[in-house]
Amino acid sequence: MGAHSTYCRTSGVPLQVEHITPKGRGGSNRVSNLTIACEPCNLAKGTRTATEFGHPEVQARAKLPLHDAAAVNATRWALYQRLQATGLPVEVGTGGRTKWNRTQRGLPKAHWTDAACVGASTPAVLHVAAVRPLTIRAMGRESRQMCRMDRFGFPRSSAKSSRRVHGFQTGDLVRAVVTCGARVGTHSGRVAVRATGSFNIATAHGTVQGVRARFCRLLQRVDGYAYSCF
Ligand SMILES: [Zn+2]
Repeated sequence: MGAHSTYCRTSGVPLQVEHITPKGRGGSNRVSNLTIACEPCNLAKGTRTATEFGHPEVQARAKLPLHDAAAVNATRWALYQRLQATGLPVEVGTGGRTKWNRTQRGLPKAHWTDAACVGASTPAVLHVAAVRPLTIRAMGRESRQMCRMDRFGFPRSSAKSSRRVHGFQTGDLVRAVVTCGARVGTHSGRVAVRATGSFNIATAHGTVQGVRARFCRLLQRVDGYAYSCF
């Protein structure tokens, strides 16, 4: 998509930065008050606001403090610069090119197939049939709150205790092979530790409560991310 004049939608002509509310009418130089317009529109608008010029939709957009798109835009260029700083080859492309690359190669729409189709260097043929991408999801860590509070703001529980219990910490991926008691069986999932040494394990089939630490084996230490195969 080429740049076009905000008001007449004309593209392929020289464009000028234009104040939605003119400076002489109290408009600022902030990005939220700026748009781009062709010279004829700019001249025709004169000292009128966008609303007075017949474009209330442009005026309304200017009132949004920080558009989501602006945040995404700023974030992705910051990310691009970080990646470039690694010294590794980094390539970017437009969303339009990604989609074109993907459809030309007959691939289904998915985040990972899109990722494989970014940029000019995308191979003419992509073999994805046997590929099982690893999905990494940011989960966040445990609460920073030092203790629970009641509705008056007074401490309701004792101070946060040690995060490690018998070498495990909440969020670790464990497999418990329970050989006796009510929880007999094999349970795999994220563990929630308790100082008593009696843990809860969130499995794919629900939470198994009261599993003793001695039955648990560490599969993966919590690192704030969840991993799964697509
Ligand atoms: Zn125009």
